[in-house]
Amino acid sequence: MTQSTPSTPSTPSTPTGLPEYIPHWIGGEEVPGHDGRTFDVSDPVSNTPYAQAAAGGPPEIDRAVAAAEAAFPGWAALSHRERARILYRTADAVEARHEQLAQFESHDTGLPIAQARGQARRAAENFRYFADVVVALGEEAFRRGGDQFSYVVRTPAGVAGLITPWNTPFMLESWKLAPALAAGCTVVLKPAEWTPLSASLWPEILTEAGVPAGVVNIVHGTGEEAGQALVDHPGVPLLSFTGSTVTGRHIVRSSAQHLKTLSMELGGKSPVVVFADADLEAALDSVVFGVFSLNGERCTAGSRVLVERPVYEEFTRRLAERAERVRVGPPADPATEVGALVHPEHYARVLDYVDIGRKEARLVAGGTRPAHLAEGNYLQPTVFADVARDARIFQEEIFGPVVAVAPFDDEAEAVELANATQYGLAAYVWTSDIKRGHRVAHAVESGMVWINSHNVRDLRTPFGGVKASGLGREGGAHSIDFYTESKIVHVALGDVHTPRFGGTA
Ligand code: NAD
Repeated sequence: MTQSTPSTPSTPSTPTGLPEYIPHWIGGEEVPGHDGRTFDVSDPVSNTPYAQAAAGGPPEIDRAVAAAEAAFPGWAALSHRERARILYRTADAVEARHEQLAQFESHDTGLPIAQARGQARRAAENFRYFADVVVALGEEAFRRGGDQFSYVVRTPAGVAGLITPWNTPFMLESWKLAPALAAGCTVVLKPAEWTPLSASLWPEILTEAGVPAGVVNIVHGTGEEAGQALVDHPGVPLLSFTGSTVTGRHIVRSSAQHLKTLSMELGGKSPVVVFADADLEAALDSVVFGVFSLNGERCTAGSRVLVERPVYEEFTRRLAERAERVRVGPPADPATEVGALVHPEHYARVLDYVDIGRKEARLVAGGTRPAHLAEGNYLQPTVFADVARDARIFQEEIFGPVVAVAPFDDEAEAVELANATQYGLAAYVWTSDIKRGHRVAHAVESGMVWINSHNVRDLRTPFGGVKASGLGREGGAHSIDFYTESKIVHVALGDVHTPRFGGTA
């Protein structure tokens, strides 16, 4: 994150082309709510509604699943190459709307526009990448000696239910849509109710790319109504969910009735372990960017920083100085580094944690609304030092620009502290001792570890967490595995020598 001194940013403009009404999209048509109910869509700067979205529930989910079921045989029957061609065109259509998408996302979620542009590019990349994967995918085959041949047939699993959160919503929707479509599934997507704006562009994008009607269906609404109806629907054999651990646990329980295949990408409280021999300047850059970019509303945010005692005071002081210099401002301002938190309810929750932190630890930076921003859900990046392992701000996911810092004395204690929460999504290790880097990476309980590196992804690699951070992995071939069923076919190549029961007749 580029550091700079604060100044009063210019007043942002509202993006052009904002819809006043966001309908569902079912069977290739825009569909209003069956009973006319809507919910408000607001931006996090004015916190006043600028649009209404259709509020769906069981009737819309029934209709969307029926449309996805009807479209499934045709979509599943396309060759890998034909589906890949449509995915490449989808990537092109996303890219063609790249600026509009970024502006919509920034306006609706409060993400700084510069970072929203990066997320829009990544959404296009997701489609291009999964098109490549599906083209390269071969069937597995096994030869057992000379007499038996076995091969795996992979078939699309059916109608996939996709439930997504409000942080980087369009990118996370693409992260599920692209592999589901590549694998041959048809889908019902339930976007997060706080941020439905960017999803309103999918119908145009997918239609332009040639995705047939009914292959993708979008139902807006709350989790309790639309989301739950999707989870409970018997016509949806698999669910890919990204969201909080609390909701994830609830969905696992609900979906037991139909034994659904699940992928759960849940919360995190990821540790950054900084040893005294690390390149401290690089570690500092990574910590500041890792926890404050995307407004700290990032599942893999390094929100617990564990620093070896000899450099603890120096590192904490420098981190606090950097946090104070992060430029907080209107999301649409290109110079903004931290924008507005997504929703007043979430903002209040993050401020509650700041109050809790003031009682539990030593506040060394931030903790308040920046003086130049009178309205909107703004918080100066906040650093707490000397945070004890049983403190709530050490244990609980805050999901905002707030970081907890604590010292450790040796490698064993670093690992113990890193593993001392219920979560296990990501971890980061900073050291110039490569053997120690690997030792710690192996000992840390998490799905992903970066050594001397920040949150850079290679889309071929598995993404996901352990413990309360999730179930299963997506990314690369793992996503295709998730969205397909495998069937093994065994065939004898020569004479069959089956042991004979009952003798000859
Ligand atoms: P959330 O759990 O409140 O909501 C996520 C989605 O679930 C929303 O679309 C919501 O409407 C829906 N939902 C809520 N109740 C439901 C129910 N009973 N049945 C079906 N659907 C329901 O999460 P959030 O606040 O939107 O997102 C933030 C959380 O997401 C954080 O915990 C963050 O760590 C997590 N997250 C995880 C990853 C990851 O890859 N591990 C990525 C991004 C975000």
